Amino acid sequence: MRSNKDQSFSPNAGLEYAINLLRQVTFDPQHLPRKCPNSGLGELETMELLAPHILGRAARLDRSDALAHMDPPTPWITWVTALWNASLNQNLLHPATSPFALEAEKLVIDWLTPFFGMHGGHLCSGSTLANLTSLWAARDAAGIKRVVASKASHLSIKKAARILGLTYEEIPTNSKGQIDAEQLNNISDACLVLTAGTTATGSIDSLKLAGQAKWTHVDAAWAGPLCLSPSHAHLLEGIEKADSVAVSAHKWFFQPKDSALVMFREPKKANTAISFGGGYLTSANIGVQGSRGAAAIPLLATLIAWGIEGLVERIDRTMSMATKLAEKLSEKEGIALWAMPTTGVTVFRPLTCRTEELHKRLPEGMFSSCLLDGETWLRSVAANPLADIDEIISTINDEIN
Ligand SMILES: *Cc1c(COP(=O)(O)O)cnc(C)c1O
Repeated sequence: MRSNKDQSFSPNAGLEYAINLLRQVTFDPQHLPRKCPNSGLGELETMELLAPHILGRAARLDRSDALAHMDPPTPWITWVTALWNASLNQNLLHPATSPFALEAEKLVIDWLTPFFGMHGGHLCSGSTLANLTSLWAARDAAGIKRVVASKASHLSIKKAARILGLTYEEIPTNSKGQIDAEQLNNISDACLVLTAGTTATGSIDSLKLAGQAKWTHVDAAWAGPLCLSPSHAHLLEGIEKADSVAVSAHKWFFQPKDSALVMFREPKKANTAISFGGGYLTSANIGVQGSRGAAAIPLLATLIAWGIEGLVERIDRTMSMATKLAEKLSEKEGIALWAMPTTGVTVFRPLTCRTEELHKRLPEGMFSSCLLDGETWLRSVAANPLADIDEIISTINDEIN
């Protein structure tokens, strides 16, 4: 039975007030205590103190001009379920403390893996960890000692290779930002990492290369969710030949952090290589993390609330925004477009002033920047379904003319 003695653990004490603060964000932050207080302020006063900081000082990813990063705004069904999760603190390491959370994860994995041609996997805190987990499986299930990836691959690949004691070999990219297949030597004993949606330009490596190495890992942290879209899934054709796939759910699946999927084509083989059983564990600990929260629950809620169609509609909407942005930019004199976007990442630069200058004049959070062959470009990522491309274009027009 629930005990109501200590109100700090009760749902009746101040959650409505917290929701009100969320509705009416205040922007006059007071100083935080300089030292960790000896006697606490109590929950209500703490909320009042922290709301202008936590809510008021946050970068708003839901703003109509926010298009800079791979971090999306999150649907409110995920806030609710994350709150429920936090209140319950289920631990997926122990089936006894997570009876429903484990089932939710199984459902999400069962529902999503077929879109990638994979057959199992688990959730983890991000694709950094999903990539590490995959390369670990490659090393211990397939015995690979070398990792081959393009120069545009994410730094987490290099990091994973370092942690795992694997040799990391970098292949140049072609003019489309993809791994230059002509420069690939013998990869029959290697783990080939292909990126679906490179960080800087959103390029997709040729997935025809999947299956040619001893182990193929597809880092689809960003562009993976396109596999669900009937209009865009063809871009990732070949992914089903991979041995492992990483997707960050806190990117294009609109999930709060920390949420990602690591998926395997042969989960039994992979899981055996990355499992540890401890005396006190009733089932083996699979993957890198030990205690693990129920990130699957907000994802499950999103999938049920929106359905695949609703999810795809949002992804497709952001893809159309990127196309529209790129088309408008390409019509504009004084702008060089790096290329038409393939996965919602649009890269361009001004021809009439330095990129850094234009970047500074534009609202914070509208664009980020990236360095390509020593040159700075502006980069936009269509992760925000609430963005207003006409407004963004008109802001650029005002600054460029
Ligand atoms: C974001 C990203 C990662 C890292 O994922 P996290 O979820 O931030 O850990 C890895 N690879 C690519 C291509 C990415 O875009």
